[in-house]
Amino acid sequence: MFVTQRSVPLASKAASALRASRFAAPATSRLFSQSAPAHNISFELSDDQRSYQDLARKFTRDNITPVASQYDKSMEYPWEVIKKAHEVGLVNTHIPEAFGGIGLGLTECALISEELAFGCSGIQTAIEANGLAEAPVIVAGNDQQKAKYLGRMTEEPLVASYGVTEPGAGSDVANIQTRAVKKGDKWILNGTKMWITNAGHANWFFVLAKTNPEERPHKALSGFIVDGDAQGVIRGKKEINMGQRCSDTRMVTFEDVEVPEENMLGSPGDGFKIAMGAFDITRPLVASGAVGVAQRALYEATIYAKERKTMGKPIIAHQAVAFMLADMQAAVEAARNLVFKSTWCKDQGQRNSFYASMAKLLASRAAVSNADQAVQIYGGLGFNTESAVEKLYRDAKIFELYEGTSQIQRLVISRHLADLYNA
Ligand SMILES: Cc1cc2nc3c(=O)[nH]c(=O)nc-3n(C[C@H](O)[C@H](O)[C@H](O)COP(=O)(O)OP(=O)(O)OC[C@H]3O[C@@H](n4cnc5c(N)ncnc54)[C@H](O)[C@@H]3O)c2cc1C
Repeated sequence: MFVTQRSVPLASKAASALRASRFAAPATSRLFSQSAPAHNISFELSDDQRSYQDLARKFTRDNITPVASQYDKSMEYPWEVIKKAHEVGLVNTHIPEAFGGIGLGLTECALISEELAFGCSGIQTAIEANGLAEAPVIVAGNDQQKAKYLGRMTEEPLVASYGVTEPGAGSDVANIQTRAVKKGDKWILNGTKMWITNAGHANWFFVLAKTNPEERPHKALSGFIVDGDAQGVIRGKKEINMGQRCSDTRMVTFEDVEVPEENMLGSPGDGFKIAMGAFDITRPLVASGAVGVAQRALYEATIYAKERKTMGKPIIAHQAVAFMLADMQAAVEAARNLVFKSTWCKDQGQRNSFYASMAKLLASRAAVSNADQAVQIYGGLGFNTESAVEKLYRDAKIFELYEGTSQIQRLVISRHLADLYNA
């Protein structure tokens, strides 16, 4: 099915009806005050934004939450969910209209990813990894590249991968060893990428490779689009990870892969800048996924604390438990607001790296900490695979690792400080 502008408002109508339902009830409390003046700082969502949020919430309730545990246990790739999400317009939401997408702003994309992650962050990661692969093409691709590689993603449910990390270089991106050497009108690609999300199913890869080894590290790299069916693309086994177990993570080896010269993004030496520029789009969305997990942990823990009784009263009436929940609520709100500051900056056309890193840092901590507290509130049951929170505990940790570890986010943030504060 072709995802068009038409499919989303249709689905949005159905979503609007949902606002009155029980599941949608937390919408207001999970978001912002309704009465902020439009001309000033506003925490109010527009009607369109509410529609996308409602659509994603309904989709999650009907299509993700019921199957999350099953996919976690089987570790099967969630193709059926991805196909349905594609059909209603919840995949590739950042692709511009000119190339067949729905061209949503980053704020709308963040609303959607939070909702999807509330249901299952493994499935959300499988969906969101497309956005990560597409971001370098959106940032640096020419019209032909965008039409060919972004366009096809909107026409049918395909997935793509972002291939930067290597066995010897994750945080240290400038140190990657994959090489591309020009031969006639082709680049010959050799190297190994590691921990690549969606790699088992990717139709194409964004690949960062060294093209100018004699240059200083940040000018030595170039970005390429590599077709998944090109000869010499070897996909490794699915890695068995601690959490987000239905998300597909693999090693990918490139052995003398011929990449047409028209598949280079930008110019030789632009790769590092392109790969980092993509993070301005994707870090806020990973952060909003983390908010979804933090919110889910809070939701499950509160429900349980109201039901479970000890010493003659519900455990929520014990101050020690109630204060844990209060901290969890504050963490969710703080992280969500920082996500929105980072998406707002980007949607205003401002550079948002500073806020994107703060959002990723704070939201991933909220996810890990809230999942931990939720297990604590569940007591022994929280440690059991049948509980609602055990999976959240395993799923949350990756948010502090991928898309730049928390230490790397601190590095980015701290680099802004000397310029920010002057005597
Ligand atoms: C499930 C999963 C999915 C992933 N998906 C993708 C993907 O789709 N595409 C992709 O390209 N990559 C992906 N990654 C890779 C991920 O981005 C890296 O694992 C991450 O960037 C960290 O790199 P590393 O594992 O090499 O750790 P290292 O860089 O070796 O870091 C090890 C430790 O040292 C710390 N450290 C490193 N350098 C510094 C420094 N300068 N200052 C302070 N502390 C430092 C780190 O914070 C970390 O705690 C994925 C990883 C996982 C586990």
